[in-house]
Amino acid sequence: MVPVCKLCEKVIPSYHPLLNHVVIDADREVDICPECLDRIRQSQQTACATLFPTTAAKRYLTRTGRKKA
Ligand SMILES: [Zn+2]
Repeated sequence: MVPVCKLCEKVIPSYHPLLNHVVIDADREVDICPECLDRIRQSQQTACATLFPTTAAKRYLTRTGRKKA
């Protein structure tokens, strides 16, 4: 069976269980593609940098153009 991303429903090109398989709980497991994992990671980084604006976090927001006015 070809692994398909649970979020965007595209085929995961170079599937690796360690990178693409996420166990939610005893009954749920999902496969997520690298692009969606990247979007989630960037979203979490931006959220953390906004909520906890350390000097490094402010630099990150400025560098990535995600600083909100
Ligand atoms: Zn995806």
